[in-house]
Amino acid sequence: MIYQVIVDISNSSVDRVFDYSCPFAIEEGSRVKVPFGNRTLEGIVIGTKQSTDIKTKDIIAKLDDFTPVIPEMIELSRYLKANCNIRYADSLRLCMPAKLRGGRVRELSRGFLKLDVDKEIARGLIGKNAPKQLALLEEIQPEGEFESVLVGRFGQSAVKGLVAKGILNKTQMQVKRKPLKNLEGQSKKVQLSDLQISAVNEIYDNIGTTVLHGVTGSGKTEVYMAVIERVLSEGKSAIMLVPEISLTPQMLNVFRGRFGDNVGLLHSGMSDGERYDEWMKILTKEAKVVLGARSAIFAPVENVGVIIIDEEHDGSYVSDSNPRYHTHEIAEFRRKYNNCRLVLGSATPSLDTYYKAMNGEYKLVKMMTRANKRAMPQMEIIDMRKEIRAGNINMFSRRLLAELDKTIKAGNQAMIYINRRGFASFLRCKACGYVPHCTDCEVSLTYHKEDNRLKCHYCGKEFYNLDVCPQCGNEKLSYGRIGTETVMEELNKIFPDVKVLRLDNDTTSSKDSTAQILSAFSAGEAQILVGTQMIVKGHDFSNVTLVGVLDADLSLYYSDYRSNELTFQQITQVAGRAGRDDKEGSVIIQTYNPAHYVFRFARQYDYEGFYDKESNMRETTSFPPYSKIIRILLKSENEEKALISARKCYSRMREIKEENTGLFRVQAMRAPVKRISNEYRFQVVIWLRIQSEKELVPRIYAEADKLNDKSVVTFVEVNPVNMR
Ligand code: ADP
Ligand code: ZN
Repeated sequence: MIYQVIVDISNSSVDRVFDYSCPFAIEEGSRVKVPFGNRTLEGIVIGTKQSTDIKTKDIIAKLDDFTPVIPEMIELSRYLKANCNIRYADSLRLCMPAKLRGGRVRELSRGFLKLDVDKEIARGLIGKNAPKQLALLEEIQPEGEFESVLVGRFGQSAVKGLVAKGILNKTQMQVKRKPLKNLEGQSKKVQLSDLQISAVNEIYDNIGTTVLHGVTGSGKTEVYMAVIERVLSEGKSAIMLVPEISLTPQMLNVFRGRFGDNVGLLHSGMSDGERYDEWMKILTKEAKVVLGARSAIFAPVENVGVIIIDEEHDGSYVSDSNPRYHTHEIAEFRRKYNNCRLVLGSATPSLDTYYKAMNGEYKLVKMMTRANKRAMPQMEIIDMRKEIRAGNINMFSRRLLAELDKTIKAGNQAMIYINRRGFASFLRCKACGYVPHCTDCEVSLTYHKEDNRLKCHYCGKEFYNLDVCPQCGNEKLSYGRIGTETVMEELNKIFPDVKVLRLDNDTTSSKDSTAQILSAFSAGEAQILVGTQMIVKGHDFSNVTLVGVLDADLSLYYSDYRSNELTFQQITQVAGRAGRDDKEGSVIIQTYNPAHYVFRFARQYDYEGFYDKESNMRETTSFPPYSKIIRILLKSENEEKALISARKCYSRMREIKEENTGLFRVQAMRAPVKRISNEYRFQVVIWLRIQSEKELVPRIYAEADKLNDKSVVTFVEVNPVNMR
């Protein structure tokens, strides 16, 4: 038997199958040690065959007493190699916890203490002048406790003393790390509404992909759990994905409440050890419900009955570092492989997803009312230009301040949201709200300080900077933006007695701080929570009745063709945090551009209206979902070489365009950020017609590979998000 092995080196030149022989039998999916050149390397057996033409070497050893890569993941790595230009070694790495590789696994064991002597006798042995030891003796659990717990309560010397006297017996106990173990799970079993029941049935009956379009607070989580329960009762397993770590504690809580230890948690915020333990629990089928962020789509579960992507519109489902993958695409692969259900749930489905639902490719299920039977919170749009004209130059409108005051006095809570994503600045007229757009692409232009120009990040067109607003003649054009810190300072000035918490990337650098801030707010320790994107997602605070959005336009001016869509999503999602329990909620949106259709539709919670308008626009400008955009990024420390590669790439793409109408637009330019960590960056952007995608995407990958000048790195991204 010949074994086909992928060696664990991420390098295109060796990213292929190598043949080995072996004196003993090995299963596919095993990790092995193999001789490679003059080294020994780890590798994965991905197949076998009867014979080979080459002279083979023997596999040295099998590394584990289990099979870490399930057959489905081997198939997946073949698929990713063929369709997404992802190396075997890279996708196999995604399927395994980092700890497994390089033999770094360490089972955790902890000291465990138990009374070894009768209490009566022990008291005599201790004597009166050791109160801590006596207290420990009285309070230790009859079945024993972990040493670290007892040390925490009674101190090191009390514990040591009792062990020395032979009163406590110490053993080592194997423990599994349980991430976030203080979240034991909260089980509030509710009676499903008719709407929820029919959603569950519709999803369950569709062996295929279902879009669950449910307004914020419609009770999608209960629907997901009911579907999972059914799937489990058939003996199958489930994968549930949520966007971000900050959201996971809450979801984990309800999932543990419902499914107990049957839940395996996987996300990147866990320690390597925790990740390994949870992954093992899933591989050994001890846990049949996988809950996690993006990377959990690679969980080693077999016999999957349903895959759920919650908040499917969220940007975190597209990986932003290598290897670049779209979670939806992998979920779709796994759905087909398992012949099961895929659920894409959101209050604001991505345009791409909804487009497929409209075309009949996906089934659409709607839940348009809230589970608490309340109306959606009232949304009010405040025109900040009027505020300026009325002499209010504060970042808060008079209306928002009045509402904040009212909310605090009533003993309720408020959330203030400001958008701060994006790296580049745009130009805006403070008086009329005018923002310059690209004449060809309809996306807003980005201001580049170094050459004082306005540039389009898609086609590269450049424009002179403006001194005067072409719309109203005003000379006050601004580049500035406000941050969470300034907002917090301002609130402290206006409401000196009110406690304000802040949540953004700066406050959440440590592993648990997001959860801490959120739980402090949830416990009512502050009346106002100020934050960025992180407060938008899925949180369920029952006491929040007011949501304020400052400078809601900011996201309209990302240099991204999806900026309208992103703004609509953010406003709808953040508004959805208000009035989720018994109390009515209200939302105040501050903008310099109140007439924009995004606000008009968002205010009415009119997703369909927005979809029609926006998809019309995309069709007119030939942006996705009506096309596919591919960006080829070329980076090098040598500017000249990067430029030469970019030119070569550009002319090659022009040739393809000449012979194949499926490729209908090519642009080459410097990347939006022209230099990052000493590398010069150029990009070639290509527009493809959807029908030609299957044929042209692999071809473009191949062309990009051919460019490979050793000193130039090439990245290919399909429908790039957040271009820089
Ligand atoms: P979504 O994810 O759709 O925004 P959630 O699943 O977070 O909404 O549910 C919103 C709130 O409604 C939660 O507090 C949840 O416990 C509650 N809820 C869901 N279904 C029901 C129901 N059938 N009866 C009562 N409360 C429900
Ligand atoms: Zn343009």
